[in-house]
Parts: sequence; C-alpha cells; structure tokens
Amino acid sequence: MSQQGYVATPPYSQAQPGMGGYPAGFGSAPAQPLYRHYGGPPQSFPAPPTGKDTCLWSPIPPVKSSSIYIQQRHHNLGTLACNMLLLRLHSCSVLKVDHPPLAFPAGPGAVQSPQAPPTSHLTQQQFQTSPPTAMGHPPMGPHSSQMAHPQSPLAGPTMAGPQSMGGPPPMGGMGRPFPGPPPPGAGGFQQPGPGAAGPPGHPQQLQGTDSTVTWSSTVAITKLYGFVGPFSMSQIKPIPGIKTQVIEDDQAKRGGQVYTTNLRGQVPPLVTTDYTVQDQGNASPRFMRCTTYSFPCTADLAKQCQVPLATIIKPFATVPKNETPMYVVNHGETGPIRCNRCKAYMCPYMQFTDGGRRYQCGFCNCVNEVPAFYFQHLDHMGKRVDFYERPELSLGSYEFAATLDYCKNNKPASPPAYIFMIDVSYANIKSGLVRLVCDELKTLLDNLPREDGAESSMVKVGFVTYNKILHFYNVKSALAQPQMMVVSDTAEMFVPLLDGFLVNFQESRAVINNLLDQIPDMFADTNESETVFAPVIQAGVEALKAAECSGKLFIFHSSIPTAEAPGKLKNRDDKKLINTEKEKTLFQPQKAVYEQLSKDCVSQGCSVDLFLFPSQYVDIATMGDVATHTGGSVFKYSNFQVERDGQHFLSDLRKDVEKAIGFDAIMRVRTSTGFRATDFFGAIHMNNTTDVEMAAVDCDKAVTVEFKHDDTLSEETGALMQCALLYTTISGQRRLRIHNLSLNCSAQLSELYKSCETDALINFFAKSAYRAMLNQPLKTVKEILVNQAAHMLACYRKNCASPSAASQLILPDAMKVFPVYLNSLLKTGPLVGSAELSTDDRAHQRLSTTAMGVEDTQLLLYPRLIPLHNMDVASDVVPTPVRCSEERLTDAGMFLLENGCSLFLWLGQACPPEMIQSIFNVPSLAHVSIDLRSLPELDNPQSQKLRSIVDSLLDQRPSSMKLMIVKQKDRSEIMFRQHLVEDKGLHGGASYMDFLCYVHREIRQVLT
Ligand SMILES: [Zn+2]
Repeated sequence: MSQQGYVATPPYSQAQPGMGGYPAGFGSAPAQPLYRHYGGPPQSFPAPPTGKDTCLWSPIPPVKSSSIYIQQRHHNLGTLACNMLLLRLHSCSVLKVDHPPLAFPAGPGAVQSPQAPPTSHLTQQQFQTSPPTAMGHPPMGPHSSQMAHPQSPLAGPTMAGPQSMGGPPPMGGMGRPFPGPPPPGAGGFQQPGPGAAGPPGHPQQLQGTDSTVTWSSTVAITKLYGFVGPFSMSQIKPIPGIKTQVIEDDQAKRGGQVYTTNLRGQVPPLVTTDYTVQDQGNASPRFMRCTTYSFPCTADLAKQCQVPLATIIKPFATVPKNETPMYVVNHGETGPIRCNRCKAYMCPYMQFTDGGRRYQCGFCNCVNEVPAFYFQHLDHMGKRVDFYERPELSLGSYEFAATLDYCKNNKPASPPAYIFMIDVSYANIKSGLVRLVCDELKTLLDNLPREDGAESSMVKVGFVTYNKILHFYNVKSALAQPQMMVVSDTAEMFVPLLDGFLVNFQESRAVINNLLDQIPDMFADTNESETVFAPVIQAGVEALKAAECSGKLFIFHSSIPTAEAPGKLKNRDDKKLINTEKEKTLFQPQKAVYEQLSKDCVSQGCSVDLFLFPSQYVDIATMGDVATHTGGSVFKYSNFQVERDGQHFLSDLRKDVEKAIGFDAIMRVRTSTGFRATDFFGAIHMNNTTDVEMAAVDCDKAVTVEFKHDDTLSEETGALMQCALLYTTISGQRRLRIHNLSLNCSAQLSELYKSCETDALINFFAKSAYRAMLNQPLKTVKEILVNQAAHMLACYRKNCASPSAASQLILPDAMKVFPVYLNSLLKTGPLVGSAELSTDDRAHQRLSTTAMGVEDTQLLLYPRLIPLHNMDVASDVVPTPVRCSEERLTDAGMFLLENGCSLFLWLGQACPPEMIQSIFNVPSLAHVSIDLRSLPELDNPQSQKLRSIVDSLLDQRPSSMKLMIVKQKDRSEIMFRQHLVEDKGLHGGASYMDFLCYVHREIRQVLT
C-alpha cells in the first residue's frame, strides 16, 4: 500500500516536526504541551465530578451579548473545575443570547411551532445590508441581539467596509442557452471590492462576527445519569425571543436562493441549506468545499492560526436538474488545451493577451501560444468574444473528451463490467440471503447505469459463487443453460473462461435468469461453512484483466475467511487492548496479501464493494481494506435476517448498483504558485505524492486534500486550484472532468476566520484523526485534536477579537458550532475507546468516514432530531430539527432521528394513543412492536406525512437507513441515545457544555 495510505504526514501544516516526541503519523505536538487535563484517565474526558466539586455559575447581566462568560467561583483546584456533566442547561435560556451555538430552535416554544419564521440574528447580515451606523449603538438591553462589544468604540466604523461583500449576483442575461449570464467585469470574474477586508490592522473589524454564547445565569441541575451532585442551583432567567441558530440562520438567509460562483473567495451556503448553484467560473460547492475561503498569505500566519487549509472534493457529486449540467468539450484529435509548463487545463483563470494570440497561465504564469484552431479575437475588455460559447472559459466545472494519449497503452477504453460474487456457504444459504440476492438481481440488472439518453447500459455483468472454492458461470446468450466451471486451487487464482463470463444482460437475460433461479437450489444442502476471501477479489481482478476493462466487484460475504488460502484471517479481536498503546493494532489491516491485492485492483480499475453479513467478528479492518483503497464501500448487516433486514439491504444494493460512477480514475490537484496539495484522504491509492488513483469514484465519494505553503501568496492574485480527474465513463469513454476554484488570500488572520467553513473543517479533522489512530494511541490523537482546536480559537481571540475578560469564551462567528462538532467527533465509536462497542463496528465507521463528503460528516456528527408530534400535516415541509439533546425530548412527543447511517423513531412514554393509532394502527404504545422495520401504510394524514418524511430522508442519503422503533425508557433507547451528541456520551465523552468549559480552559492556557 502506498505510504500515504498508512503513514500520514502531519495534518497540522504548520506544526514543527518532531516537537513533543510524537510519531510522524499525526503531526507534531504543538510547542507548548497542554495536555494536562485531557485524556489522562482511560476515559477520554475527565471523569464525572465527585461530590466535592462545586461549580457555581454566577449570573452575569447579559449586556455584552457577543461573548461567552464563564465565571467560576469555586472550583476544585482547577482540575475539573467546570465539569458540569450533571448540569442540564435549560434550552435557550442558557446557551445563547445572541448567536446560539446550534441551528435549531431553542426552547419548547420553538419546538411546538416549527414553522415560526426565524427571527433576529442580523450579525452576519450586517456585513451585507445593515447600515454601519447600527453597529455603533450601545446595547439595547438584555435581549439586544446584534451588538458587538460595546466597550469598543471602533466597532462601528470598522464595520463599514464589508458591506460591499456578497451583493446580489448580477442576473442579467438569464435565459441564454449556454452557458448562462455573463459575469460582471472583464474576464468574467469579480473580486471582492477593496472595502471587503476592511482596513488592515484593525482586528476589531470582526466584532460583529464573534460568536456569542453567553451563559448568562442559569444552570439548572437535573438528575442525569443517575448521579446527583451537590451543585448550586441558580435561578433560570429565560431569555425570550431568541430562536435563530447557525443552520437555521443560514437557511433563512440563503435558503432557496441562487448561489452564483462568480466571486473569488466567496463562502458558500452551509451544506444544510437548500440552495441552487449557478456556475459562473468557480466550481459549485457541491464539488469543492474549503475549510476557509481566504488563505493566509504566509506560512507563518498559517502556522500561527493552525487552521487546516483543505478542500473536500466530490468530483461526481449529484447535481440537481435545475443546475448547470456538465458540458463536454471536444477538441477532437488535438485534445484539451493545456499550459506548456504546468499542464493545467484551459480554464477561466487563463488570461488572454496579445490580441488573443497568447494566454498567461493563472497557475504558473507561463505565457503560452494559443493554437491556431483555438484563436479568437478579444473584445474591448480583453475578453474572448466566444467567452460564453466555451464552457472551459466561463465555467468552474466541465469535461474534456480525452484522446488516446489519455488511455492505457494508447488503446480506447472499454465499458466497465460489474461482477456479482456470492458467498454460498452455510450461513448465507440458511439466512435466505442467497435467494434474496438472486431474486433481486433479475430485476436490478435492468437498472445498470447508462449514459444520458442511451437506450440501455453498456456495463457487462458476470457471476461467481464461492465458499472454499470458486464457481464461475458461462452465461453466453447462445447457451440454453448456464455452465459452471469450478476452480478449487485458490492459491494461484485464474479465470477458467473468457468467452461467456462477462456478458450484456439484455442479450443473455434468459440464461442469467435461469442461473439466478438455480443458484439458491444448487447450494441448498450445503454444509460448507468455511470461506475464502482474497482469492475471490483476485478472481474478479483477473477477469477484468482478461477482458481488458475496468469494473466493480459486488461481494456478498458472511464470515471471517478461515479456509486455507491466501488472505486467510484469524480472530484477533482483543478487548483488552482498548485504551492501551496497542489499541491501534485493532484497526490496522493485516497487510501482505491484501496490500498487494489493493494495488492489483487499482492498476486494473477494479473497485470492490463489500456487503458483509456477519454474525460475529470478521476483522473488518482487514476485510474492508481493499474496498477502501479502491473507491468502494463496505456495507454491514449484523445478524442478518431476511424479514427484518432484507429491505434495508436491498435498498443499499439498488442504490449502489444504480449510482453514477466513473472508473479507472486518476486525479491531480494543481495550484497557483505559493502553495500546493500535500496530503490526501479518501478511498484512494497513491503511488507517488501527487497522483490520486481511484479504481472507481462514485457520486458519494469525496477526497479531502490538504494544502501547505511553498512561498508567500499574493492578495491580488489569490489562490487558485484546479482538480483534474481522468476517468472512464460508464459507456467506456475516456474523459477529463475539471473543477476550478479561486480563493482569496489575506495578510489578515481575521479574513481567514471570517471565511471559515466549520462543516468542511470537521470533515478534515475527522479524516485526519481516523487516519492518525492507525499509528498513535487514541489518547494522543484526541489530545492533539483538542489542542489544535484550542490553538485555532486562542489565535482568533488574540489577534482578531476585541479585548475582553479572560472569563469570556469568544468564538469566531464562522466557527461557533465547531466545538459541538468536535466534541461529537471525540465521542464517535472509533475514537471513544469503549469495550462495549464492537471492534468491527468501530473499524467500519472509521473506514466509511474516510470517503465521506462534507454533507455526510456534518450529519454524522450532528444528527437531525425532528419533532413529529406537532407537525403540520397539511404542509410539505419537514419540521425544523431541534438540538440533539435529551433535553428536547418530551414524554408526550414523537421524534425522528437520522445521521445518515441510522434512523430512529422515538416514542415518548406519554405519546397520545390517537397519535399511536394513526401511525401504527394499534391502540396504545404498549402494542407497538419495536421489531417493525417500516411504517404501516395507513390512510390518514399523520401516517402519510410521516411516511413521506421518512421516504424523503432515505432518498437523500447515500446509503439506506434501517428504521428502528425506540420507546422511551425501553432497552432499545440506548442505541438511540448514543446519537444525542450534546449529552454526555454513553461510552465516555463529555457533554457539550462540559466540553466548552474544557476548551475554554485550554484556550486560556494557550493565551497565558
Ligand atoms: Zn501553467
């Protein structure tokens, strides 16, 4: 396996190597070790306070609305000072005055009226719309919502500049068939006006954007987790009228709008917001999202702030029908036009000069001749007159038809093949899985992916069954009956037939259906329980090699491969290793055979999708290794039962077979001078330091790319990046998919913090931490995560925020939800280190996250908790989610919780019988079966509405989610409660409030 796959370079671009004695896997320790409070005990977070700890949260008049006050009157030697594990903060009354940390309506009132329009919260809007004078006003009393620090006289004037940012996009020219409205300005790009940054040297300019979490008074103590502490109870002073929060704010402000990509360094709407993209020269945020849209000019600044500079690229992201389609540019035999020096592809960042005869490359500044066939005159603005006719000049994303030079061995590519490989050992036969798969394939194969407008799919199909030996099938259309060929020597795998193994489904339908009918019966009496695994993958690769095509293996497998063969595995699960130095070995794949197999797969363009049906440990860390280096996925259905889990599995299989995908891909990310891509995370393989190889890449897979400085970046030219993905389409054409993105650069750190994207940041942190845990103890990984976060926030405070008391926790506006996401990450299965979790589940989550895009990590780390008991059945709207805390649950309520992997329907103990009746058609809660896996189809508005919500959620997610019914106080509730990420973790890990205290203390330590 490539070096990149296992030995990570430090994710902290700026940390000095070797400091603090950390191994190379996860970056170096920061100069000042700050780990005193974290991770000492086996648990990741300080243990719950003992009775001695006393913590008083004193009331602070909520005058300064944009900062957090934490006052600790008493604490126990400062160690667990504010460990508030037991303190329940009552909804909005505690958490925020101004900018609540989360997006959901706080307070019971909000829950009951989900349709209530978001109110207040102008802070962000002030940059765009409100008059600067407003900023200078004194606070309006306790509920003042939009004020910066009143103590700063500079607050008003310094805010004046940013008004010009992000004005409405010019909409002239709509209705052109291609490619859309002319962007303003010469060359089609607008840079933010000079006023946008505000005058340099005035850190106060960001005052309006400080996040404002004010713990004003209010700590209510409740008995949680069976522990009652001697905490003082202060009075709760609810702060009314404050509902808006981050996600909801963004939805209110930018939802339903057109996001036009003509501005350099423009921060897109959040992934949770519903928006439409108009491509005007930069890639849609669906394809590329950055941790910040303003890079620091120098490596020193980057090192100082420790904010990772990264882009998450999802090259095949699904684009809604109403957005710019992917145009294909075909220059015939000439192929795409590229810079002679850096090989960047023609794009909007090339500047034409000399009457159109030359162009200067935006990436390396090389001046190139324009080929004669491509010559075009320039208009009076210096823009080519064919600007709007050429996607490669005016759009952020487009494709080039590739020439033979871009094909393996200069031979045209072939359409890919899908090979279905079914484990027919005893477990899979007995569970009914084999019959289920075979029945499904008969109809599913009609839905193989095809080019737009094509009558049928060109993807070929093949079939293998196996246990200890492999059976190949000849399903040539001319045959009356399928033929089986057995290979029992699994040590040297070969494919016994070429002709008739990979066929067109339409042509061979009769023979294939015949085979699929026969397979379950052929093995019905098997008592073979041993399986091989590596030889199965090897057989798939060999078959594709022989057919000279790329493709995908769909493997349906049940058990750890113990049969005598290459890649044989043994049970190495050892719970005793948890929370020791050796815990990492549980996640390290057993290399040797599998490492070589990954390489073989990648060089053949063979992706592996693994559907696992285990009843016990199967070493997913190893079995999933090939899948996660070949752009594949691992699906897991523990203790599979057809009746209970069949539909869930079939939904996954259907999505997986039908999804948009490219094969045999190689990706290169080019950058303008001064910085470069240095590290890559994803279901990828790397043979060198620049080329990202992917046997396949589908619409849900994302690659996270980290950047580092080589030199000083210029504020004037900004930072440009171009992602070029060479791949084979589903019909066998070789194409280049290009995504371009331009960012700002600034010598002011305040610009960087203002342009941060928390959802992208946490995607980077999750992937880098999950990689690091292969090489370092979990404790160290978690310490480094928290430490880097503290440094990021301390640097903001020191350099960008106005002076304030040390007791105030000040977060940059764009990062105000960062702590809650980070805390949730620390509590995820892979990082939590609990013997109660299955090692395979932890390994599985680790592997799945590696290829996730920003939407998926956001949802995973902050699930949606949707109240259903007051939903408006007449409306199409899904009720607004509430904060992920037990606090939000009500005895008489009904909630849906989803995180992209799991879907729960939670029923309160006092759920009204009418509600139960209308949804489940039973008289009371006691009659509801928790084994239900789908909701009964009842003809009443409540049932229809709820089912439509569930269907729309399932439709939006990359994989299917199994619906689980959970009753309050029932045993089944434990699984559900793991996902209430603001609460203390069931398997360890702090509540959100505790974590904020902890981070605050770390920040203070950094600052002193
Ligand atoms: Zn160049």
